Amino acid sequence: TARIGVLAVQGDVREHLAALREAGADAAPVRRPQELAQVDAIVLPGGESTTMDRLLRTFELMEPLRARIADGMPAYGSCAGMILLADEILDGHPQQQTVGGMRITVRRNAFGRQVDSYETDLEMTDVGTVRAVFIRAPWVERTGDGVEVLAQASGHPVAVRQGNLLATSFHPEVTGDHRVHAMFVRMLSR
Ligand code: GLN
Repeated sequence: TARIGVLAVQGDVREHLAALREAGADAAPVRRPQELAQVDAIVLPGGESTTMDRLLRTFELMEPLRARIADGMPAYGSCAGMILLADEILDGHPQQQTVGGMRITVRRNAFGRQVDSYETDLEMTDVGTVRAVFIRAPWVERTGDGVEVLAQASGHPVAVRQGNLLATSFHPEVTGDHRVHAMFVRMLSR
């Protein structure tokens, strides 16, 4: 079976490890370049993208992660993880960098400052109806070539796929429903 890493520098790592294991995957936290080298795919969790950006550089994971993704390693980012996978961000910190790889422009904290979090049911392609939990979430403002929109909320894409890269604005890892993770696991065997 494929071994899936969860980037473990910050964010809701434990929830993703649990969801991946429920989806039948072999999952392990990734904190060091050596650990990244041992996984076949990676999940970038929710959390705080500016902090993760800083820690990725401190832990010397930014360049190896970019190289692996450029090389075709499957990746799934939720919320802050979606921001990390985006080629371009709006309303980011002035010095904020991303890992990139997905031809999307995301707007950070897009749902408005007064609405810190909300939940809704969404239809997601290849998954079905999902309970989507948004916590200071980004949305996708623009999509480039080869980006498929899997779900929308407030008139914006909130789940997107490009080849073997997947990103959601919401946090399926906090709902106890592992179908989005199962879909990512299925993407590895294509
Ligand atoms: N607002 C956070 C950021 O910009 C993301 C929030 C989350 O992951 N729940 O990184």
